[in-house]
Amino acid sequence: MSENVLVVAFDGLDKELIEEFELENIRQEEFGSIDNQTGMKNIYTSELFASFITGTNWEEHGIEGLNKWKDSRGEILDTLVPKNLLETKRGLHRVRETLKSALDAEETKWEKEDLKVDTLFEKIDNSRPIFVPGYNPSTFWTIEADLRPLGFGKTPAETMEHYDTREFSHRKEKLFSELENEFIPARDFLMMHFHRSDTFHHLYGDKDANYDEEKLREMYNEMDELAGEIKEKALEKGYDYIIFMSDHGLPAKIGHNENAFYSSNKELFLDQTPKIMDFHDKVLELVE
Ligand SMILES: [Zn+2]
Repeated sequence: MSENVLVVAFDGLDKELIEEFELENIRQEEFGSIDNQTGMKNIYTSELFASFITGTNWEEHGIEGLNKWKDSRGEILDTLVPKNLLETKRGLHRVRETLKSALDAEETKWEKEDLKVDTLFEKIDNSRPIFVPGYNPSTFWTIEADLRPLGFGKTPAETMEHYDTREFSHRKEKLFSELENEFIPARDFLMMHFHRSDTFHHLYGDKDANYDEEKLREMYNEMDELAGEIKEKALEKGYDYIIFMSDHGLPAKIGHNENAFYSSNKELFLDQTPKIMDFHDKVLELVE
């Protein structure tokens, strides 16, 4: 039987905090961890979502980490300071950063044109991606507008206010106009990505810089409320499977911690911990 599947990603939402704050909507009937390390090179958003939608890892799909170079200046930098040396020799990071600004090399986000293999969106006819990293990231994120106000002396609260009014509300609108549109039936596969939780973590959830448990609790509850609203609308519309997930957890010294979660309103992997690449086959199995 063909099922209609909705996946909603809450970037960086940390499994340990979901449990600590006892979120009721985010934790559905099946709730568990995602293995976001097996086969992955980095615990970074673009690479992780590219793996989710292709069922392969960076060696096959071609997306590594978070960003790619905007032009050939960055590629020169890679020749001067090879990436494989960066992983072993920490001092090279500073050299690389200096060269990066000397060359004026800029980074941007990976997207569909960079993928070397097909994704769920090519394989499933009636599918739609809304701001999926590694595929069709939002312009706001691509131009790195999230935390930029801080560099202009704005406070974390002002930065978050700017984010919420320009980006978070825009993403919500995209999803709800799809779910509430009477003329669009439930799709075979709809995938939505919210980046708000990760942006918030970088302002209030970094254990080495600015950890604020109360602020985090408030944001987690807001995300839980949103999840409840989405679930209600999606069920009404005829979605059979509602899957919530994250790609990683809180910021860490390099990248993010591994605390990714998933939840499903119906049995999915039972008590096995899925690798992030395993969702691709599972979704295909459900929609076929
Ligand atoms: Zn992420």
